[in-house]
Amino acid sequence: MLKIGAVRWRGKCSRHPMFDPFEGGRGAVKGGCVRCLSLVEICESHQKMMALMRTFAPPAPVKRRKKPEPPHLQIGLFEEVR
Ligand SMILES: [Zn+2]
Repeated sequence: MLKIGAVRWRGKCSRHPMFDPFEGGRGAVKGGCVRCLSLVEICESHQKMMALMRTFAPPAPVKRRKKPEPPHLQIGLFEEVR
């Protein structure tokens, strides 16, 4: 069995802090910056890993609890109140 816990990770290039590997990809790396290329590689590996996981075991459909019907509180205008 393989278990992978939730991972929250942030990486930023100090020279190009606005670079977003998810949107820009390899083509947006300026001057072959090693740090930015590393971020692209991490991003690509993460996307590949997520695709492999989804292929191995697709996520279970989200179960939504049905809300109970609100009680009918409106008083009928033409009904006799006892
Ligand atoms: Zn950079």
